[in-house]
Amino acid sequence: MHELSIVLNIIDIAESEAVKAGALAVRRIELNIGKLSTVEPMAFEVAWKQAVRNTMLEHAGLVTNYVSGKGKCTECGTVFGMNELFDPCPACGSFFSEVIQGRELQVKSINIDS
Ligand SMILES: [Zn+2]
Repeated sequence: MHELSIVLNIIDIAESEAVKAGALAVRRIELNIGKLSTVEPMAFEVAWKQAVRNTMLEHAGLVTNYVSGKGKCTECGTVFGMNELFDPCPACGSFFSEVIQGRELQVKSINIDS
């Protein structure tokens, strides 16, 4: 389950930010997760609940924003909504497109208790 390694990575980032700020705990964390990333929401939440135990994020509120996918056709330049990687361009049918949104996996904000 690769969600667990992603979660551990996020916890790492959040804890080091909190430590830098001299905080004792993370109160709330907000994440942007692209719908075209490889994260499976259910697996992610299960992994999260297990991984935050005994960390500074144990009682942190988790807010996840699932960012929808967007691609740009490299043939005709049309920008379109993507539900899956390799969705064809709706204008010309080309399968060649560049993903411009939806693969991100980032910490948007962290609120801490000091
Ligand atoms: Zn196109």
